[in-house]
Amino acid sequence: MFDNKDKSSTPLDKIGEFGLIKQLTENFKVYHKDTFKGVGDDAAVLNASKLQTLITTDLLIEGVHFDLAYMPLKHLGYKAVIVNLSDLYAMNAEAKQITVSIAVSNRFPLEAIKELYSGIKLACDTYQVDLIGGDTTSSTKGLLISITAIGEAKKEEIVYRSGAKKNDLLVVTGDLAAAYLGLQVLEREKQVFQINPESQPDLTKYSYLIERQLKPEARKDIVQILKDLKVKPTSMIDISDGLSSEILHLCEQSQVGCNLFEEKIPLDPQVIATCEEFNLESTTVALSSGEDYELLFTIDQKDYDKIKGNPNFTVIGHMTNKNEGTHLITRANQKVEIIAQGWRSF
Ligand code: ADP
Ligand code: MG
Repeated sequence: MFDNKDKSSTPLDKIGEFGLIKQLTENFKVYHKDTFKGVGDDAAVLNASKLQTLITTDLLIEGVHFDLAYMPLKHLGYKAVIVNLSDLYAMNAEAKQITVSIAVSNRFPLEAIKELYSGIKLACDTYQVDLIGGDTTSSTKGLLISITAIGEAKKEEIVYRSGAKKNDLLVVTGDLAAAYLGLQVLEREKQVFQINPESQPDLTKYSYLIERQLKPEARKDIVQILKDLKVKPTSMIDISDGLSSEILHLCEQSQVGCNLFEEKIPLDPQVIATCEEFNLESTTVALSSGEDYELLFTIDQKDYDKIKGNPNFTVIGHMTNKNEGTHLITRANQKVEIIAQGWRSF
């Protein structure tokens, strides 16, 4: 965590905007030859490709989307990139470039912003995307980060939210609810720390949860795995707001209904144990908590054999006629309506 009373800290007004931009961006690599001109001129220049171009953007605001009390700046930079890349992978596309705009108050020294950029760079290197520009400005209070990601895909490979058909299988990658529980653990530790700054919490039994909250990954690998398996989902979305609201998006845009089976929802053992400890219902958390950045998609039943037994995928339900509605089938075999915040119990 940064400390702005640190003696080695350099106030931003000492180096000026151009010096700052140079220091932040000088070590980035360029991975794609269609990045013709990156940072350094009035605009970046990309070579047009024969593919379709996809563009997505996200704005993160301190105090609304992140809390620097437990989010190290490097992790914040990494996560800010990931949330954008996840949107491109959810379209079955490749991510190629990003722009990063920041507004910083004078409470952040140069070293803090460099930390932020070290996370952005790590994400660029891990996912092979090029930083091609951005904007830098001051804010009266707090930190704002806006990232735009650019990707591409063949027209016929792009997967929309709107293509699900009745009888398609509903599939999710990885497991759910861990990121939210990681946040609960960190919030609790923050409160303990405020009362007793000497406390040295042992967080090993929550390690997976905290990692999912602080260092989420985007499922670039899934786009490749699906390609290798020759499976093109009929619809897809990434899970940023919780399973129930993402299911409702797919159903609404595809004009179908859905049956989701509670017993199929994939949960890590740490999620189950921590739900018990916090007295939370794991299904409710999986349905209503976000930030797992897994992919949720539908496939035609004829593709089932191709994904069957693959540890990346869990079939959690199937699509129905729109007029059958959107339901959770509980372990007790009760049928309850799914609503955006989770489910309606009666
Ligand atoms: P202008 O005044 O024309 O907007 P800037 O001085 O803001 O130009 O930016 C100079 C170059 O640095 C541009 O290529 C811009 O995209 C890039 N840039 C500015 N801020 C950032 C940033 N925070 N991260 C990455 N690139 C940046
Ligand atoms: Mg500018």
